[in-house]
Amino acid sequence: MKNSLLNCPFCGKPPDIINGDNRDDYIYIMCRNDDCCADMGPHHSIDEAVLAWNKRCPLDDMPEPVTSGSFSKMIQKFENVVSGKGSNNE
Ligand SMILES: [Zn+2]
Repeated sequence: MKNSLLNCPFCGKPPDIINGDNRDDYIYIMCRNDDCCADMGPHHSIDEAVLAWNKRCPLDDMPEPVTSGSFSKMIQKFENVVSGKGSNNE
């Protein structure tokens, strides 16, 4: 096999390649874990499906998690804008 599938990004179990409707251009990737149900597709070829499944967001590109501190700042900023106190007023 040219491309090997990475394990499920959600539960870590291996996925299966599903040939939907027995058509070669209707490929799904589906997690084998019944409690997870992650799936992706349809894709037009197995290669395309495998590439899409294996494409992960690098951890460095993940957005910062929202903490109660940063959430309070966001709310404050929002309240300033709504009440006209924000520096966004030209
Ligand atoms: Zn899974």
